[in-house]
Amino acid sequence: MANSPLSVVKPVVISALHHLGVLKMWRYRQKHELIILMYHRFSLDSEPFKLNAVVFERQLAFLAKKYNIIAFPDLLEFYQGKAELPDNPLIITIDDGYYDNYSIAYPLLRKYDISATIFLATDFVSRNAWLWSNRLEYILKHSARPSFNFSIMGEEFTFDVDTFSGWHCSQLTIFNTLRHLGDEKEAILDELAGLLQVDVPEEVTEEFKSLDWQNIREMQENRVFFGSHTCSHPILSSLTRERVYRELMESKTEIEGELDTAVDVICYPNGQPEDISQSVQSIAQECGYMAGVSTILARNDPPTTNRFSLNRSSLSVCNDAHMAAILARLPAG
Ligand SMILES: [Zn+2]
Repeated sequence: MANSPLSVVKPVVISALHHLGVLKMWRYRQKHELIILMYHRFSLDSEPFKLNAVVFERQLAFLAKKYNIIAFPDLLEFYQGKAELPDNPLIITIDDGYYDNYSIAYPLLRKYDISATIFLATDFVSRNAWLWSNRLEYILKHSARPSFNFSIMGEEFTFDVDTFSGWHCSQLTIFNTLRHLGDEKEAILDELAGLLQVDVPEEVTEEFKSLDWQNIREMQENRVFFGSHTCSHPILSSLTRERVYRELMESKTEIEGELDTAVDVICYPNGQPEDISQSVQSIAQECGYMAGVSTILARNDPPTTNRFSLNRSSLSVCNDAHMAAILARLPAG
């Protein structure tokens, strides 16, 4: 079969680029860029919204082989001019502070001698307060009605929560519709609970359990670092300046008091560009944070990427070739 025009041109272009040193430069740049991975929940079985422990272990084995896994404080030292970063640096982060971070992820991190940073929402950890996404999941799982119509922001939806796929799909649709809203989403969830005749307990139930300070202190002894994920996990850009300050400052002070160490990194809830306004970033700076992480999927160029909006990526696969491809194709930061 004759070669397609593209297959003839491609090697020529690649060799020309190579000759020009472009590829070399690109590889050099990739080698010095920082990848920050984000995780949330873990499980021993296959459960929605949780990463299976076997998959997580394969990822750790792959990452330990291919990258130099550093701790967040190493990056802060680089910012302060006290240390250099190794080639192919990578940081592992986990958001929210669920108990499975201790029971499932932590033993695996120890097994591979890998450092991680966990971002704690302090109302969740200290006061058993519901994260809104968990409250939504609880309401849908305990619905007295197998299907229902519900209108969100003027849009009418029909939901079926009687089968696993129906429940999963309903959860995703409602989550994605509400995720950018501020406090008003709590009232929408109250309305949904009323419609589905669900009494949500005052404190989180076992399945959504958080870490406690004892778990946290034990991990702190073994290369796990902690940052703030605010107090009540709100969309910060939807709040007044005073409330943003309170969310950032009180969570920082509480974790510092409990762990007797500085809390230098903030993880913005939801973490999309519209959730992290310039004013949110400057309040973070005012509160004494040295860096902030988003959920924008890209690499970081440590000398130039805005350190108050560091990009993060996630990995949901366990095949080495797929992981390598996902990480290699991340957009530049
Ligand atoms: Zn979160």
